[in-house]
Amino acid sequence: MSASQTVRTGGALDLPDRALAACVACGLCLPHCPTYRVTGDERRSPRGRIALMRAVDSGATQPDAEWLESMDTCLLCRGCEPACPSVVPFGELMAGTRIAVSRGRRVPVVLRVGLFVLVRPRLLRFGSRLLAVLQRLHLLPGGLPLPARLPLGDPRRPGRSDGDVVLFTGCVMDAWQPEVHAAVEAVLEATGATVTRSGDSAGCCGALHAHAGLEEAARSLASRVMAALPADVPVLVDSAGCGAALLDYGSLLGTPEAVAFSARVSDVHAWLAENLERMPEPEVGERTTVIVQDPCHLRHAQGCHGSVRTVLASYVDTVELDDEGLCCGAGGAFSVLQPGLATDVRRRKTASIQRAAAASGTEVVVSANPGCALHLAAAGHDVRHPLEMVAERIRPASGYTDGR
Ligand code: SF4
Ligand code: SF4
Repeated sequence: MSASQTVRTGGALDLPDRALAACVACGLCLPHCPTYRVTGDERRSPRGRIALMRAVDSGATQPDAEWLESMDTCLLCRGCEPACPSVVPFGELMAGTRIAVSRGRRVPVVLRVGLFVLVRPRLLRFGSRLLAVLQRLHLLPGGLPLPARLPLGDPRRPGRSDGDVVLFTGCVMDAWQPEVHAAVEAVLEATGATVTRSGDSAGCCGALHAHAGLEEAARSLASRVMAALPADVPVLVDSAGCGAALLDYGSLLGTPEAVAFSARVSDVHAWLAENLERMPEPEVGERTTVIVQDPCHLRHAQGCHGSVRTVLASYVDTVELDDEGLCCGAGGAFSVLQPGLATDVRRRKTASIQRAAAASGTEVVVSANPGCALHLAAAGHDVRHPLEMVAERIRPASGYTDGR
């Protein structure tokens, strides 16, 4: 059944009817929910949140501050979905709830300012340069989710417009982590692909707007991205969060054009895993070992986390974490809006990384999502993008020079 055909409850939240009714309250999702794991509070669990959604949707109760807190503290990691025997689409329920709630509510100032800047690339680069100066002068407090060295100059690269793949460059990642896009572009070119960068004209994917329930803004950004990338070539994404958002444009906009656009979108690791025979042999450096962290938007939203391992296998050895993909606590803007809970959730991930590091002797973590990478780096971890590891080993073939 398509999104437009979904029967909705018609209640206060107007959620998909069958999805809301599907939960049988078995509780099998509870151990997979990071916010339940750190709080032990049923209202911070998938089961509890669904019960609270039902209560408000049916009109049995009103959404008071405690109810809103239960919804706001969800990371939207969707770690509960694969554990659910009733296949409850929890992400869809929470997204619908956020949309309903956002209609009568002011967006927190910090989020409003952040979202305003994200969709204005020149302002974002200007603000990033100011932050870079403050960072060089050691005037920024520690523990912020920022790269170790923000770029001082303009991180954009001149690009071609006729590539046979598009690399989606997004907003923050383009401004803060240009070395990641450079590495990914080098790996793609080493396969023989020609690369067009999506750049400023496509801009932000709208993932954070969608997370916050700002549906109209998310739709507007989705339309802008689609209009900027009309050529019928694959759109490859090196940020798991952006990739999940682009893949959702079909259901967000509900048009045949949006469905066709989403069908062109792939996580870059998934695309490379399908084109392994085109990847070059490692030519430089030693075979090292890395700890793999699965971003929720790769593992639960896109289900292609295995591709990261497939692509890395020829270049580095990989070590698994022992926490079954539990969220790291980054969650888009969650680490800014819910810093205490984000830190508590991250503590579990850090403990798992430390166990993996002790067993393997490596400290290097790879993450395919910039939000996770920055959140974990703020806790002192050495985090790289998986394709930076590949680019460094194929350097002569790729011409890649931007490694740290
Ligand atoms: S999406 Fe994540 S944080 Fe939210 S209820 Fe599910 S497991 Fe818990
Ligand atoms: S596992 Fe599924 S059915 Fe069981 S409580 Fe959680 S959401 Fe409900």
